Amino acid sequence: MVKHDRILLASPHMSGKEQEYIKEAFSTNWIAPLGPNVDAFEKDLAAYVGSAGAVALSSGTAAIHLSLLLLNVQADDIVFCSSLTFAASANPILYQKATPVFIDSEPASWNMSPIALERAMKEYSAKGKKPKAVIVVNLYGQSADYDPIEQICAEYEVPIIEDAAESLGATYKGKMSGTIGKFGVYSFNGNKIITTSGGGMLVSDDIQSLSKARFLASQARDKALHYQHSQIGYNYRLSNVLAGIGRAQLEVLNERIVQKRKIFNRYSQMLSSKYSCDFLPECDYGNSTKWLTVMLLDPLQELSLSTKLIEYLDEHNIESRPAWKPMHLQPVFSDYDYFAHDEDVSSDIFHKGICLPSDTKMSQEVQDIVIERIKNFLDMH
Ligand SMILES: *Cc1c(COP(=O)(O)O)cnc(C)c1O
Repeated sequence: MVKHDRILLASPHMSGKEQEYIKEAFSTNWIAPLGPNVDAFEKDLAAYVGSAGAVALSSGTAAIHLSLLLLNVQADDIVFCSSLTFAASANPILYQKATPVFIDSEPASWNMSPIALERAMKEYSAKGKKPKAVIVVNLYGQSADYDPIEQICAEYEVPIIEDAAESLGATYKGKMSGTIGKFGVYSFNGNKIITTSGGGMLVSDDIQSLSKARFLASQARDKALHYQHSQIGYNYRLSNVLAGIGRAQLEVLNERIVQKRKIFNRYSQMLSSKYSCDFLPECDYGNSTKWLTVMLLDPLQELSLSTKLIEYLDEHNIESRPAWKPMHLQPVFSDYDYFAHDEDVSSDIFHKGICLPSDTKMSQEVQDIVIERIKNFLDMH
């Protein structure tokens, strides 16, 4: 096979227009945080997803933390959170010294299981306890199934924080992912579908809460001539230079979604017909961005097969990764409660799932190199 550079999972994909917005920031000396690019990026993103407002932040993690602050999550409060996710979904619960309770996935979407959620609500309310919030994560570009989740949360009167860091541009029953919960969170980290090198966004229809988020994210400075503070603040705002990157990236988001979906379709067409492997199913309630293509290896095979495939691809200069390791299996969260769907769905996905190179800069020829390597490996096993 031909020699090639390392084939990456997902890397920043600039459109070329980013530099125009950055140049604008330089020529007007808006290098300081905030400024016209931040305002425009917030406005454009809110318009794209259809939320009443948006606050540009230094990271998606900061947006999750601020959501918890806005819902007044404090020490010893309980917050439910999807278990199958990246640690950044759950870490802010601990920043607040609150207690996370982890909820399993359902097999159809790999996102939060309404069955496990309902059981958790019942058991906790029987103990006279109620979570302050539920963080629902939309994994790998696909929305969770919100109708049953919202119904349960409405019954117990618990607000939803939607961690849409991986699902910007996806839809659920005609709504944009991230706009269903009380708060929605996006990330523009380097590996996400669009990036500002680092950054995040908090969206909501509650304009008052969003202005409070702006206040908290800018060191909680009171309106006074001198520096006065009546609350603890944070330095969480996005820089005007980086927001310029975001403006140009948002203009190509729809194009990136088409590219990501094409990558997914090629993998699944070329591999699932001949081999006993599966792909994260697409639910019929909405459109997935296919941020990452995730393949599941045959459950009847030995458990370590996915590890072996990752090592094999690595030897051939191809990056792949296991699916997220669930939070309830993480040493740092091992003391907290966990509610499984029935069988432990998220652990199963972790053991069998492999994220394949889904870089939108990857040509079809290069993707075919990856597919050939996977075929070679599967023929040998
Ligand atoms: C990337 C990611 C985050 C964190 O976003 P940052 O911008 O890197 O802080 C949170 N949750 C999920 C599910 C993510 O994939």
